[in-house]
Amino acid sequence: MTIAGELILEKQTDAILSSDDERRYRCVKWDPFIPCLRCGVCCTRYQVQLNLSEARRICDGLGLSWYTFLGNYIEPRWLGADSFLLRQQDGKCVFLKDTNEPHRTICLIHAWKPWACREWTPSLYRRECREGLLKQWGLMVLSLIHI
Ligand code: SF4
Ligand code: SF4
Repeated sequence: MTIAGELILEKQTDAILSSDDERRYRCVKWDPFIPCLRCGVCCTRYQVQLNLSEARRICDGLGLSWYTFLGNYIEPRWLGADSFLLRQQDGKCVFLKDTNEPHRTICLIHAWKPWACREWTPSLYRRECREGLLKQWGLMVLSLIHI
């Protein structure tokens, strides 16, 4: 089975495991830089930290006044001079938006998102991405073999 043209998964043939769950797979070939599934799980787990210039860039990109931006999108409990946290709302980043597709999200500030978000590379080593794979595809990866 191939997902997004990058992952090749084979059904786990181990008798005990396969009888437990038909949808358990072993990843036999994969690229660590898998395409993002856009499940949004990572955007619910961490509150993103950003510096002043990143905050200014988002503020300018949204065309907001600085104080409107601070009031609506920055965590009020941690307002530093050069260190901010993006606000969370309903258990997720305030800029994460659901789409019409199940378990598919978009980042409303993709063009100006903070460095921490840009540096976050999707990978099956990350439990958040594995959770996204389970939600979107119903697949549970039991083991990773890089060939
Ligand atoms: S800024 Fe975008 S990518 Fe970063 S946590 Fe928020 S929704 Fe996710
Ligand atoms: S958890 Fe992984 S696959 Fe899901 S949105 Fe984040 S980086 Fe992308």
